[in-house]
Amino acid sequence: MQLLKNRILSQGRCLEGGVLKVDSFINHQMDPLLMREMAAELVRRFSGVAVDKVITIEASGIAPAILVGLELGLPVLFVKKSRPSTMADFYVSSVFSFTKNRTYDICVSKEFICPGERLLFVDDFLANGNAALGVADLASQAGAVISGMGFLIEKGFQDGRRILQERGYRIESLAIIDSLDNGRISVR
Ligand code: 5GP
Repeated sequence: MQLLKNRILSQGRCLEGGVLKVDSFINHQMDPLLMREMAAELVRRFSGVAVDKVITIEASGIAPAILVGLELGLPVLFVKKSRPSTMADFYVSSVFSFTKNRTYDICVSKEFICPGERLLFVDDFLANGNAALGVADLASQAGAVISGMGFLIEKGFQDGRRILQERGYRIESLAIIDSLDNGRISVR
């Protein structure tokens, strides 16, 4: 998606360890007009795919997911990174975070994922696919199905796409980063 690629090239920053910082329009300050365009593009790419609910993981997935849900007229469920004391019956899985270099638990109330439900997973970044696999594990515990996985930015030099595709998931991403070597962003 050219609009996103242009913005990454003009405002993205490379951090140590292959991390792309997009804090001025996605991860801290957000550009709602760009977000709306990106959501519309994800919806276009998944047209023809049956979806009952949009699912994401807090925090940065929520903005794109809610706009995808708005566009589709579907509810949006965000998986939590800590269990609220008010949540009684839940599914739990664990995820290794690439950016934080630690493993954490994710959870979702059993109330909001039903057997047979078709879920579209939306997130800001695809790196090694760990967040996506954690959410897919929660879905499978509930007997729900992941219909597709849509990402704003994919880091093509990491293994996420291969790992997820090997498990049969359909992946769409709006911009693919080929390299962040030597402080230079290379967009496919
Ligand atoms: P994965 O689970 O695919 O390894 O990593 C994806 C998750 O880690 C995303 O939810 C995102 O929040 C975070 N992440 C991974 N790589 C980057 C990056 O280069 N920049 C930012 N801002 N977040 C990233």
